[in-house]
Amino acid sequence: MSAERLVVIGGVAAGMSAASSYKRAKPDAEAIVLDRDYFISYGACSLPYYVSDDVKDFRQLISLTPKVATEERGIDVRTRHEVTDIDLEKKQVQVKNLEKNETLFLAYDKLVIATGGLPIKPPLPGIDLDHIFTIRTLLDGIAIKKFIDDWGTFEVCVGSPECLYVNRYGEGKRPMKAVIVGGGYIGMEMCESFRKRGLEVTVIEKMDRALGTMDLEITSIVEGKIQDEGVKPYKGTSVEGFKGAKGKVQRVVTDKGEFDADLVLLAIGARPNSALAKEAGIKLGVAGAIEVDGYLRTNVPDVFAAGDCAEATHLVTGKKAYIPLGTTANKQGRLAGENAAGLNKKFEGIVGTAVTKIFDLEVAKTGLSSIDAQREGLKFFTSAIQGLSRSDAYPAGKKMTVLYLVEEETGRLLGAQMVGQEGVAHRIDTLATCLYARMTIEDVASLDLGYAPPFATVWDPILVAANVALKKLKLARG
Ligand SMILES: Cc1cc2nc3c(=O)[nH]c(=O)nc-3n(C[C@H](O)[C@H](O)[C@H](O)COP(=O)(O)OP(=O)(O)OC[C@H]3O[C@@H](n4cnc5c(N)ncnc54)[C@H](O)[C@@H]3O)c2cc1C
Repeated sequence: MSAERLVVIGGVAAGMSAASSYKRAKPDAEAIVLDRDYFISYGACSLPYYVSDDVKDFRQLISLTPKVATEERGIDVRTRHEVTDIDLEKKQVQVKNLEKNETLFLAYDKLVIATGGLPIKPPLPGIDLDHIFTIRTLLDGIAIKKFIDDWGTFEVCVGSPECLYVNRYGEGKRPMKAVIVGGGYIGMEMCESFRKRGLEVTVIEKMDRALGTMDLEITSIVEGKIQDEGVKPYKGTSVEGFKGAKGKVQRVVTDKGEFDADLVLLAIGARPNSALAKEAGIKLGVAGAIEVDGYLRTNVPDVFAAGDCAEATHLVTGKKAYIPLGTTANKQGRLAGENAAGLNKKFEGIVGTAVTKIFDLEVAKTGLSSIDAQREGLKFFTSAIQGLSRSDAYPAGKKMTVLYLVEEETGRLLGAQMVGQEGVAHRIDTLATCLYARMTIEDVASLDLGYAPPFATVWDPILVAANVALKKLKLARG
């Protein structure tokens, strides 16, 4: 009898985690990963720092090459292989070898769909002009950096085990003006990347604030920061199209006027890449992501889904949510692989914890913001304080703002947001843990947190904010 075979579609965070955990649980079984891209297993999260040139070589973003995955983990990785159809009856996938232009069929015993997300690209006039970029894949990052370096482009050297790229052409000059469409966390991170490369940067955002649904107490600080760094933000402004000459973008057209651009970055969000699953008859759930249960099972036996193509349960609302993040993709992928191997591991869910660096600011969110909570119809209040990252007695502590959302009736913590120059990104993890444990604000105020002058104030900002919120709650209750 031949060995059981797992086929994984997609070879980045979720897909490679699934194949690796499956092989660990079932060393004698076969694991095949199919990816249409040249690269697998890279950290898209580091792309902004590659474009900024903080990371010099794109290879530093790659965790596993196909060669290492095969030699050290026994996984059969096939890049430039696109799955074009899933036959759930026959339990096989149709695959196109993009290099040879050949079609093949691969049978599976277990299937993990880890096709990730796709950047949103609205059908606006001029959207297909050259030098309008999205940033999603490693190739996207390489293309943007190469363009900034010398108005150049590149081609991938196929066949090299390390996938070297070679320069195809560069016009020698450099782009000067970048327009970022979208003021979410990727748009904000890219402001810093572009400024570091000496570009003039304009951000166009449809909403009344940067950073999507975060609260104004936090977003106003971020907007002040990017302006201090020379970025021009235009809020409440909608992009209507793009104009160019000789096929290259030159202007971004909005409802408030036109903006010159040598380079445009579309950063208006990602959507689940779930069309293949849908066409096969697999059920989709929230936001068009693949519906999965706590064990990453789809509605079809032996078919699992994980990562940016799949939904997850939000532990604050108890409902399904689509919050595509690398941390979730890795965890879901690992569990999908283990469950495909016959283990029975539950993915409890997410609380939507995200951290980002915007110039010298750390910005963090966990749980719900006011906009999120309003959408859920929850009755809540917010409470914000300013604290210090370290004791006054120890030099150079930095200010931080801490904001909590508290449910009026129960006193339960619904969410937390923070911004400051230091000590934010790791403090949010304490609050993520509080959300996971469904703590009330009184519980948070009672936490026994560590203190020494170089690291915190004796009343840590987490505790000060909890005490202030608790006072508000008590006042409201009379
Ligand atoms: C610029 C940027 C910054 C980010 N920063 C952070 C961060 O700081 N923290 C964080 O937690 N997350 C961050 N993320 C999100 C994180 O990178 C993603 O959540 C993560 O990459 C998702 O992994 P995935 O494996 O689900 O999907 P993907 O990375 O999208 O991989 C899916 C793969 O599937 C392949 N594929 C798709 N369809 C097919 C098909 N039909 N056949 C074969 N192959 C197919 C694709 O080629 C792709 O390689 C960031 C993302 C970006 C773009």
